[in-house]
Amino acid sequence: MRYHALRSRQAASRKFLVIHLLVPGSWSVLRGHGVAEQIENEVRATIPGANIATHIEPAEDPLSMQDGMIT
Ligand SMILES: [Zn+2]
Repeated sequence: MRYHALRSRQAASRKFLVIHLLVPGSWSVLRGHGVAEQIENEVRATIPGANIATHIEPAEDPLSMQDGMIT
């Protein structure tokens, strides 16, 4: 699995992370969500207090890679 648009910021002791996960477009919502939950849990275990949000995108869609601009 690939990812992009990893962003992080910190406010006092709180850490916020956003990551876009590129998964096969044929995956079900159930499967994609399961992987996202697993990654979120692993990040929370590694970075205590982390607030992480994932965004799932189809890897085959060129538009998926065009939303990584930091605005
Ligand atoms: Zn994206």
